[in-house]
Amino acid sequence: MTTYNLLLLPGDGIGVETIAEVERIVDFFNKSGTAKFATDTDLVGGAAYDKHGVAITDAAMAKAQNADAVIFGAVGGPKWADVPYAVRPEAGLLRLRKDLGLFANLRPAICYPALADASSLKRELVEGLDIMIVRELTGGVYFGEPKEIVTQENGEKRAIDTQIYTTSEIERIAKVAFDLARKRGNKVHSAEKHNVMRTGVLWKEVVTAVHKSYAPDVKLEHILADNCAMQLVRNPKQFDVIVTDNLFGDVLSDEAAMATGSLGMLPSASLGAADPKTGKRKALYEPVHGSAPDIAGKNLANPIATIASFGMALRYSFDMGAEADMLDKAIAGVLAAGLRTGDIMQPGMTKVGTAEMGGAILDELKKLAA
Ligand code: NAD
Repeated sequence: MTTYNLLLLPGDGIGVETIAEVERIVDFFNKSGTAKFATDTDLVGGAAYDKHGVAITDAAMAKAQNADAVIFGAVGGPKWADVPYAVRPEAGLLRLRKDLGLFANLRPAICYPALADASSLKRELVEGLDIMIVRELTGGVYFGEPKEIVTQENGEKRAIDTQIYTTSEIERIAKVAFDLARKRGNKVHSAEKHNVMRTGVLWKEVVTAVHKSYAPDVKLEHILADNCAMQLVRNPKQFDVIVTDNLFGDVLSDEAAMATGSLGMLPSASLGAADPKTGKRKALYEPVHGSAPDIAGKNLANPIATIASFGMALRYSFDMGAEADMLDKAIAGVLAAGLRTGDIMQPGMTKVGTAEMGGAILDELKKLAA
């Protein structure tokens, strides 16, 4: 049996509590002989700063480079509000993304039937929803130069951000989207603004070319990003995979997420380039939420986003689709049984803490695996 190297980086605040629940699931897989995970743990964020004076050490970075997958909790909190900018907790996550070359951000929006009434959209629109948003993460307007605020001769200030995309940047993210679609509903929507942006024109041209040469078997539709935003609240179930740039992806993935209820439910994955020899991608999996200092250390955090992030690692880094499905089913089962952490609490349901929710998911998983 292949041994998979897993690096756990709990970080700060509730990251520590939610990663502990992932560890219990990893233990179960190891003990039941389902898989062999060699797990290592290290510090990141404020916890790393307190011990080492940096947001992540070179030694932890080396472990991340060698790991088959990194599972990240969360970083930050008021305790580190005044630390120097270069070593602030978030710098740890940014270095991981940069040094591992994580250019593809995968954000699923899944609506568990038991939570359909917690969505801001009507039940019939979101029940059974399963969308994957693929956001380009390392290019576009957040990084393009020039990026500055200049004071003009007349004293007025002028701010500039620059949106840049190259053919190869678009090609590699399009391929990730087509590969994913093949494992799902076989449909990709590519969202851009070719009507008003030159980068949109190139985006559409390159995605069309990649589709033709690489994935003619997948259905491709082009959609203007503003229309995509509208369709996500009008009829979200029409989508399977949406591929888009960094800025539009930032907005559209948050919008899609809200269809599913709470921050505590949202997993994500960030993938790098495939190794030409092994085909393996560098990968980091993390909940979308932060360190939630307001509830940290109180057994109040919802661990589902972090557990579901591990589920994505099973699917995308370890080729353990059956186990990932089982874990999703365990989460759905526990929710259907009426267990809720505070963030997703509804009338008539049973309120539980982090460890109880994690324990219930583990028990359900054991039943499904038996
Ligand atoms: P947050 O996501 O930490 O919390 C926002 C709200 O949602 C809070 O009320 C919190 O209690 C609640 N919440 C979040 N996750 C929850 C969960 N799993 N279960 C139950 N409730 C949950 O965002 P914030 O308050 O803006 O930021 C807090 C700290 O986290 C800041 O230092 C911020 O910089 C950092 N942050 C880190 C990341 C990351 O590590 N990727 C992401 C966002 C924010």
